[in-house]
Amino acid sequence: MSARLQETAWSEYESPRYVPYNLSNFREIPQIHNLSEKKQFEIEVVGNVLPFKTNNYVVDNLIDWSEPLVDPMFILTFPQKGMLAESHYQEMATALKEGKDKKTIQSIANRIRYQLNPHPAGQMEHNIPHLKDGTKLYGMQHKYKETVLFFPSQGQTCHAYCTFCFRWPQFVGIEELKFASNEVDHLVSYLKEHPEVTDVLFTGGDPLIMKSQVLAKYIDSLLDADLPNLKTIRIGTKSLSYWPYKFLTDQDADETLSLLERVTKKGRHLAFMAHFNHPAELSTKAVRNAIHRVRKTGAQIRTQSPILAHINDEPQIWADMWQKQVSLGCIPYYMFVTRDTGAQEYFGVSLVRAQGIFRDAYQMVSGLARTVRGPSMSAGPGKIQVLGTVDIGRKRAIVLRFLQGRNPQWVQRPFLAKYDEDAIWIDELKPFSGKRFFFEENWEGSNKRNKRSSDAKRKKSRIISSINNVKNNFEDRMGPYHWKIRGHKFP
Ligand code: SF4
Repeated sequence: MSARLQETAWSEYESPRYVPYNLSNFREIPQIHNLSEKKQFEIEVVGNVLPFKTNNYVVDNLIDWSEPLVDPMFILTFPQKGMLAESHYQEMATALKEGKDKKTIQSIANRIRYQLNPHPAGQMEHNIPHLKDGTKLYGMQHKYKETVLFFPSQGQTCHAYCTFCFRWPQFVGIEELKFASNEVDHLVSYLKEHPEVTDVLFTGGDPLIMKSQVLAKYIDSLLDADLPNLKTIRIGTKSLSYWPYKFLTDQDADETLSLLERVTKKGRHLAFMAHFNHPAELSTKAVRNAIHRVRKTGAQIRTQSPILAHINDEPQIWADMWQKQVSLGCIPYYMFVTRDTGAQEYFGVSLVRAQGIFRDAYQMVSGLARTVRGPSMSAGPGKIQVLGTVDIGRKRAIVLRFLQGRNPQWVQRPFLAKYDEDAIWIDELKPFSGKRFFFEENWEGSNKRNKRSSDAKRKKSRIISSINNVKNNFEDRMGPYHWKIRGHKFP
């Protein structure tokens, strides 16, 4: 019987020890021998460029090993060949076959990574807030008036990595592509300076990878500060899906739950923004018990996922997922469009098709599951929802609207784009009439300013990467050497 069709492969009473699997040990997974050597090599090639980590719970309970190559949970956590462009794949495959050293592999990987739009929607440039004294708050983002995102530095990893993850640069070890903060005092000061902020979203990575004591440092600081404007604490997490034992049998499970309870007892709304990409993730007793325990703290669990080719691009999958979530007391919240970064080509679903899947799934569920919004693009100017298509005279248009806007006045304003069956992102659409979408003029001003600084950063990264390549080639022949060029040290 397939593992996924069983209730769970592990006993309900088990207190399992978390075992991560990554490039260094995935060949030790017993089930991996269901895969050919060629497939295992593909995992190695792609996993050298994009992040790869899974764990024993996912492997033993969520993946159907009788048909791994088409199994959504396998595709969700094991790198797939199609995630890289053929030329990138071949370059890395050749380097591995030729047994190139670690540094060379690293520099090839970094060169490819910089071509994968590591920070879509200008998130490294546009949204970094600062205090009134000018201190820039790296590790925070303030894009929409009422919500601040906070990236606790110890929360910048996950129990397993999703192959589609748009935050993949957080996990590949290039420091300048990361944003993280342990400056909770700065967060408190910023919230005091900005009474319009009502929501703080702890995000990552997965903040619930942190031990309860560490997470408490952050959350208690907010609860103890005098912040009448702070109404909601949100936690973006996939721990319910990838490691439900965080709330069941881990040593700090009870402490984590009592921390959550402290938030609700202090009169703050606590929202778990839980990521579930497929109904299989809701199929074990462990996840159901974990959801139950989290809800008992007074937290509300809202669910979200992008629509992903090879994983969940069928209406029935979404209808099943939303229904299961409602029956477990969760609130379906968002269907996102796959973002313009990393392996978007592999996972992307066209906007028109995504909307069709959303509509068909929506029609299959009762009103209680129709709390969900989508399909929505988290783009530079804001969250843009695809509402559908409409015929105007002899022409067809795509109808869109802002659910969130960099300028709050854009929100809920419908606008039209020329019908394009293949477009997968807003920048591939053209206005139905006129030369520009209504928001573009306003957005482009700040975009150009920020683009100049990000172009400069990208140029610098490319130069550093080229110098590293030359250096590696030199060292291959001549042995290690320390270079210093214009103050930048190449170790
Ligand atoms: S859990 Fe979230 S942050 Fe972590 S890899 Fe998956 S999508 Fe990315």
